Amino acid sequence: MPIYEYECRKCKERFEVIQGINEDTTALQCPKCMADKPKRVLSGFYSTSGKSTGLSCGPTSST
Ligand SMILES: [Zn+2]
Repeated sequence: MPIYEYECRKCKERFEVIQGINEDTTALQCPKCMADKPKRVLSGFYSTSGKSTGLSCGPTSST
């Protein structure tokens, strides 16, 4: 499945979204500030190593 990168228009948070072809993208929200309608970012080529590119979207452990 393709991975798209989005940038929040409000807080500039960047996050990746895995989407199917028929997935509705209009309901996307920034994971940080919950603002809607993030901007699609075309970041060129992805390294297909399976690792994320250092984005801060890891699990939120509260300890
Ligand atoms: Zn945001």
